[in-house]
Amino acid sequence: MELVEHDDLDVLIRVLLDQGYTVVGPTVRDSAIVLAELTGADQLPSGWGVATDAGSYRLVARDDSAAFAHSAGPQSWKSFIHPAHERITTSDWDESGMVFRAAAEPRPRYAFLGVRPCDLAAMGVLDGVLARCAYPDPGYTARRDGVFVVAVNCTEPAATCFCVSMGGGPRAQGGYDLVMTERVDDTGHRYVVEAGSEAGRRVLDSVPHRTADAADVEAADADLTAAAERMGRDVGRAMPEIDLRQLLADNRESPLWDEVASRCLSCANCTMVCPTCFCTTTEDVTDLTGDHAERWRRWDSCFNADFSYLHGGAVRTSTASRYRQWISHKLSTWHDQFGTSGCVGCGRCVTWCPVGIDITEEAAKLAGSHD
Ligand code: SF4
Ligand code: SF4
Repeated sequence: MELVEHDDLDVLIRVLLDQGYTVVGPTVRDSAIVLAELTGADQLPSGWGVATDAGSYRLVARDDSAAFAHSAGPQSWKSFIHPAHERITTSDWDESGMVFRAAAEPRPRYAFLGVRPCDLAAMGVLDGVLARCAYPDPGYTARRDGVFVVAVNCTEPAATCFCVSMGGGPRAQGGYDLVMTERVDDTGHRYVVEAGSEAGRRVLDSVPHRTADAADVEAADADLTAAAERMGRDVGRAMPEIDLRQLLADNRESPLWDEVASRCLSCANCTMVCPTCFCTTTEDVTDLTGDHAERWRRWDSCFNADFSYLHGGAVRTSTASRYRQWISHKLSTWHDQFGTSGCVGCGRCVTWCPVGIDITEEAAKLAGSHD
């Protein structure tokens, strides 16, 4: 284990920029901690944390200078590797007729700084859907393959977090080039760092560091153990005898679906913020002359009424059927389809649901262990 001082995080960012990476990490904007391109460590949300609950998110000033002591924000890294809008083809008339071209969109080489273990797990889930499959998505693989990942273990879970019950955190479990655990105390602000790849080792060698002493390593471990015990929510741990996959499969006709539909706005927020939701639709647009046309792909949601449109009409016309589809896919049928859960416990859908519908609470109600 190595130790990097907070003041040298700037060097880490500069090394990554010099290697041609577009560095993306957390920063404060519009009263939230968002993900944006960074050029220096002074843009990190030092001294800021967040307070979340169902339907609620607030920035909170901390009494220390920690830069990564915040839980998942409104965006996930999905926004960069599976963007919300992507031009797929263009077509133009010329003397030979209509000419179609694959859109040559710029694809930055990203370095992601500050990836939470839940979000690292989510990137692995997306890989299973869009890369490790029979028909890999070329745009996704082109963006994802070159990503340099600096994970930051989670020492500050929020009230809406439940990564422990989904198995992804609070300690990163692989898939990173570097992993850091932040330590702030009377003796300073520093990171216990470990390389997870050769590329990570080389980058770390370019940043001032020293061997971490045993006290820092032990304190970082203790912080992670404490974080695991401070998860605000859980799915399944409170009801270990329940097989969630089977529970959802056995309750297709539960009255719960109408009850939750009486609150759900079918606004699709939960799917937009979810780091694993991957559904898209395609749209064709033309300019006013009709000589130029483009095909765009954009995020879609199973909460949209026309998402399940087949010939003649939509299959899921009620909000009840759409909520049932979403939670069943996340916690049950995703296993059948992709071999993993579709939920990593980041808590975003709970936080950003405008009416505070909580996936953990709905699962518990179904299991009969919640009022
Ligand atoms: S379903 Fe909710 S808690 Fe689970 S990964 Fe998606 S946004 Fe996060
Ligand atoms: S569960 Fe909440 S966020 Fe999701 S569609 Fe319903 S109201 Fe919107």
